[in-house]
Amino acid sequence: MKADALVAGAGFAGATVARCLAEAGKKVVVAERRSHAGGNARDGHDAHGVLVHRYGPHIFHTSSDRVFRFLSRFTGWRPYEHRVLSFVGGRYYPIPVNLDTLNLLYGLDLDEAGAREHLDRVREAGRPEVTSEDVFLARVGRHLYETFFRGYTRKQWGREPSQLSPSVARRVPVRTNRDDRYFSDPRQGLPDDGYSALFGRMLDHPNIRLLLETDFVEARKGVRAGHIFFTGPLDEYFDRRLGPLPYRSVVFEHLHLTDVERHLPLACVNHPGDEPYTRVTEFRQMTGQPHSGTSILREHPSPEGDPCYPVHGPEAETLSDAYRALASAEPGVTFLGRLGRFEYLDMDRTVAASLEAADRILEGGMA
Ligand code: UDP
Repeated sequence: MKADALVAGAGFAGATVARCLAEAGKKVVVAERRSHAGGNARDGHDAHGVLVHRYGPHIFHTSSDRVFRFLSRFTGWRPYEHRVLSFVGGRYYPIPVNLDTLNLLYGLDLDEAGAREHLDRVREAGRPEVTSEDVFLARVGRHLYETFFRGYTRKQWGREPSQLSPSVARRVPVRTNRDDRYFSDPRQGLPDDGYSALFGRMLDHPNIRLLLETDFVEARKGVRAGHIFFTGPLDEYFDRRLGPLPYRSVVFEHLHLTDVERHLPLACVNHPGDEPYTRVTEFRQMTGQPHSGTSILREHPSPEGDPCYPVHGPEAETLSDAYRALASAEPGVTFLGRLGRFEYLDMDRTVAASLEAADRILEGGMA
């Protein structure tokens, strides 16, 4: 079979680049190893008819007009602003840390200026931010770090925050006002009929041929393509010839509670304590779906299983750079997505990078 492009993976990275090329008149084959498109953003109805995110909660948020406009061609949006509580010592606290978190935790009645002063007093200002631990200590000080971040981070990554690059801790803001939204981007929401429907429409194009349950290595043998877009794990493409890159996986424990209208105080509760899971999500509080029962998800981070997160620690920097050097020297192949770039990208940045990659390829002309 001949194609202008072969895309490995039908998640946000692959589907975006496939769609852009298809609309430019290119013939695209998308090879997806799993039995469905959508990557880890895939959603679907569970056995009880509740719409759940199979691979963990995905809340779309962006400050990119381009990304928002592009995706809005394939979906409408349910306005939704994510809010999260952290469960510590039998009580719930807003996370990210904000004014209310401080007042609740310390029994204070601070205003915004007071919260700023409090943080200025406790944080280790000026500490060089070499690791995630440095970032937490520099921003919120030892006690808040130990209360909300250290245990969660250990569970999530299987290592101390001092063994993680600063970018991980920098994902979560610290606020001194009462804003309790998890994200601050101007656009936030969920696809109004789900991510799977969005992917269905994105990949529905006469120039796109989607092959499910098809491994890239197999597909490559059968498809003569002018260009390859690889969105699988970067080290896997190179047969891990420099050694394996560290990825973190998650065991997703889906549960349904019959005749329970609402299980959690908010859609998502984080657990920095001794529970074996990091967070619990109640999907109906995100989707607004009416139902007599409720479906929840507990996430158990794990060293084994399908890679979900690249682990950005000191030992992986050199190795991932070495793989990136191999990648940029690989003729006719572009590496995209969280796994293909070994970057902790959110959905919007994944789409943005794929739109740019498609632009570059189309401007340069394809074989
Ligand atoms: N984090 C934490 N406590 C929290 C929330 C986040 O320690 O209550 C840290 C943890 O290291 C986590 C990182 O911040 O992996 C990034 O959090 P985010 O919510 O962005 O993770 P994701 O949704 O991508 O799993």
